Amino acid sequence: MSRPRLTKLASPLYVEIALPLPLRRTFTYRLGEGIRETVQLGARITVPFGNRQLTGFAVEFYDELPSDSELKDSQLKDTIELIDEEPLITEEILRLTQWTSDYYLASWGEVLKASLPAGIDPSAENHVKPKRRKNVTLVEGEDPGRFTAQQKRAIDVLRAHGGEMLFAALQDAGPVGGATINSLEKRRIVRIEVVEVLRDPLVHATIPDIQNLTLSADQQTVLGAIESAIEAGEYKAFLLHGVTGSGKTEVYIRAMKKTLAAGRSAMMLVPEIALTPVFARKLRGVFGTELAILHSNLSPGERFDEWRRIHKGRARVVIGTRSAVFAPLENIGLIVVDEEHDSSYRQHEYPFYHARDVAVIRANMAGAAIVLGSATPAMETYYNASRGKYEYLSMPTRIGKRAMASTEIIDMRDVFKLAGKDVAFSPRLLEAIEETHAKSEQSIILLNRRGFSQFVLCRSCGETLRCKNCDITLTYHKRESRLVCHYCDYRVAVPEICPFCKSEYLYFVGEGTEQIETILNKRFPHLKIARIDRDTMTRRRELEKLLLAFSRREIDMLVGTQMLAKGHDFPNVTLVGVVSVDLGLGLPDLRAAERTFQLLTQVSGRAGRGELPGKVLIQTYYPEHYAIRHAREQDYAGFYAEEIRYRERLGYPPFFSLATILVHHKDQQRAETMAKTIRTLLDAANTDRSIRITGPAPASIARLKGEQRLQILIRATNRRKLREMLD
Ligand code: ADP
Ligand code: ZN
Ligand code: ZN
Repeated sequence: MSRPRLTKLASPLYVEIALPLPLRRTFTYRLGEGIRETVQLGARITVPFGNRQLTGFAVEFYDELPSDSELKDSQLKDTIELIDEEPLITEEILRLTQWTSDYYLASWGEVLKASLPAGIDPSAENHVKPKRRKNVTLVEGEDPGRFTAQQKRAIDVLRAHGGEMLFAALQDAGPVGGATINSLEKRRIVRIEVVEVLRDPLVHATIPDIQNLTLSADQQTVLGAIESAIEAGEYKAFLLHGVTGSGKTEVYIRAMKKTLAAGRSAMMLVPEIALTPVFARKLRGVFGTELAILHSNLSPGERFDEWRRIHKGRARVVIGTRSAVFAPLENIGLIVVDEEHDSSYRQHEYPFYHARDVAVIRANMAGAAIVLGSATPAMETYYNASRGKYEYLSMPTRIGKRAMASTEIIDMRDVFKLAGKDVAFSPRLLEAIEETHAKSEQSIILLNRRGFSQFVLCRSCGETLRCKNCDITLTYHKRESRLVCHYCDYRVAVPEICPFCKSEYLYFVGEGTEQIETILNKRFPHLKIARIDRDTMTRRRELEKLLLAFSRREIDMLVGTQMLAKGHDFPNVTLVGVVSVDLGLGLPDLRAAERTFQLLTQVSGRAGRGELPGKVLIQTYYPEHYAIRHAREQDYAGFYAEEIRYRERLGYPPFFSLATILVHHKDQQRAETMAKTIRTLLDAANTDRSIRITGPAPASIARLKGEQRLQILIRATNRRKLREMLD
């Protein structure tokens, strides 16, 4: 695949089309008459493909077929229809998506498609259209005649609204009838036209006033470094390592303002913006309508309109989640990746990519500054900073010299011995909850499981109840009284007796958020407790309402999963209780220690952000694990030093690039044969034996959704080599 030629030929004969198919190649078509003269790079074009019609993207033009092409003109098909005269894909996005597809071995067409808001394709079922409404404008100085009371009211209301309103809004505000407004139109007192109204995700939000803070010395130093880079107008990457509550957000906002003042645009990526309505409002307060918001919890209409505001250059500041890295912002001067370590930047579905890495490349292409910010940088990022690839900036203390929360570890093995049974809450944590609320302060209780109980175990035969499609234990959901597979959503009623040995001793092991909420409600009936996890929070507005209510202190305690650990700034929270986070510390997962350390440090950062000191209590069965020890001390450097040695010894990133090939098939035999064939091909491509290949072996979830899964693990010291081999 050659680089796209970014200048348009006068009237090219041929076009290269990237189709949204899982194929690592593009296809050549002859440009139809009429299309040839107007088509531009990045435009969507419908083409015949087999016996189907597909919509792809024009990524290159030719006047004659390339000499190395095996195609002849007579073999080519004509394009069918040009969809965009004005392409939706800019040249920059064309190059960025090409890089992404090369680097992650994904289809260029798929990446291009993923860069656009869903529903923008006119042939799509969920096609979104611009929203149009009747609008009324007062035309002053005409028709001096008499008005009815109704007409007078309509005119007064219009005038009070600056002489222009939506028809429906005027009807409501009057209230006046539609007929009255129409009668005014006949007399040419008002003009009625159909206009497009933009769907605004913050339309009903209360926007806070801007605070004028005086920057701390650390903030000034850091901002100074970033501003110099913005002024220089060249690519420069920073790691901003600032403890929770050190005031990173204020630095981002000032740097973005500076960027706008320098005549360029700014982008900020956040893990899950839906979780921080408070923050989105603050930004709207600062940037007004220059701000566009992009995340997957917007309605399709809102997303479509926000995206088009960016595309038309009306919004020059974008804040968004993962896919916003492909937003069509022109002339970017600054990209901020907040909580850059966050796993939500990794897209787990095809086309795979990591938004943080794409952001770095985009900044590089655009000659922009990029700031990767975190209290717990990803191992890769810190490693890059330590080797001078990124400039290291640090803010080691909290704003106002506030103390970090004090952290205590509670050894649940002792608690078990004392209680003589498995309990969810240690007496120490219950006590702390009591004390906190006696002082009218708030608390956050974290654990990492949804549902009521982790799994069902038979005490007689020791079997656990598993999904019939997957190699996974089922989770008990009390409200619906069902066992649910969190992978394939298989649901069954809870059996009365063990299906294996018919005994009645079924035992529910481990607690989920739902059960924790129930226990807490029983124990603290006077507290207002709300639960936040993926089960309760499928609807954005409800989630926003809850978080806002919590920030207004109408709710005393939030119980939930790691969603609660991220970025929130609730000054009245003084207690964070971690019921359990032993997520995979016992499993062979390369990132388990890193994830646990990050989660604990992040959630600890939610306590004591205001005037009041914070306290963190962590219940665990692994008190001596280094991730937990260093999290208690809030000691990133200590954790990094230990973890990086371990990564180097085992040949993990950042020292090696990893790739996994997952082979899945309903039939075990077929899966094995395919996996073996792939292994043979890989070995053949690995001529100099510089790449380590292991497997095929059963994947960590060996059976999922009824399919057998095998994996081949590939490790290379050099990412380019790895890609070449996989290609
Ligand atoms: P971080 O993102 O590093 O966790 P925040 O940016 O949320 O920290 O800042 C923590 C708190 O400190 C917020 O309430 C913020 O409004 C406040 N803050 C930030 N900078 C200043 C400053 N210079 N002076 C006073 N308060 C500040
Ligand atoms: Zn399943
Ligand atoms: Zn049994």
